[in-house]
Amino acid sequence: MQILVTNDDGIHARGLWALAGELKKFADVTVVAPDGERSAIGTAVTLRYPLKVRPVKPPVSGVAASSVDGTPSDSVILALGKLMAGKVDLVVSGINHGPNLGEDVHISGTVGAALQGYLRGFSAVAVSAPAEMPHGLRPGDDMQHNVTDEALEATARTAALVIKRLAENPPPRRILLNINLPPLPLMEITGAKITRLAQGSHINTVEEGNHGRRRYYWLERERLDGTAGDGTDIWAVTHGDISITPLYFNRDDKPPQAFLDGLCAGLIEELQRR
Ligand code: MN
Repeated sequence: MQILVTNDDGIHARGLWALAGELKKFADVTVVAPDGERSAIGTAVTLRYPLKVRPVKPPVSGVAASSVDGTPSDSVILALGKLMAGKVDLVVSGINHGPNLGEDVHISGTVGAALQGYLRGFSAVAVSAPAEMPHGLRPGDDMQHNVTDEALEATARTAALVIKRLAENPPPRRILLNINLPPLPLMEITGAKITRLAQGSHINTVEEGNHGRRRYYWLERERLDGTAGDGTDIWAVTHGDISITPLYFNRDDKPPQAFLDGLCAGLIEELQRR
């Protein structure tokens, strides 16, 4: 199995390499990712200037790695269309440093990259680790430091297990999965649930300030609590469950429920066994 791995936190992010290291145990892994932080960029594509690709010395041996001076979507389009054309079985994006939940996934660079694979006919998985954000995400927050190595390890193992199940029992059509873990130690996670996106998980507000003679604005993202209905992704992670959300934009691509249930069945037991 040949897996293309990308992310939106940049090619040097710990989450990317935690994931690549875990996937390498059972698949051929190639990393093509942005050369720096590109979070919250959605599916943006660079059309007005040329892109440069540079080889990167990977911190995980046996993984080929290249950086792109563009977006996560650019990285996937370049990899599938040129660098790895004809060789990819699955596109995996992450591990994002911080959750991607609710309708906000539509601005996520992590999910955006996975979506570019899906739109090209590939199955794709977006993976995000929980961050310590007790007061919501504030301007200038350094997400890199709010995600523990333990959270990344648990998330990488979860993703690997789901991807192994996809490989052993392929979905009838392309599938796009968005995986999030609850902010708990692995042994305290209670289960894994197939979910739908919660509505309005965050609200964007504008904070205005004055810096000498110049007015400035920060776009802030604040969490809305208590709005997530039963069965949503936010509901799952706030109740201690792993959330697996199938995303699709064409009714023909709706995965059969029995197939989705098979991804979750016994998942947490298998994760906690080791
Ligand atoms: Mn990110």
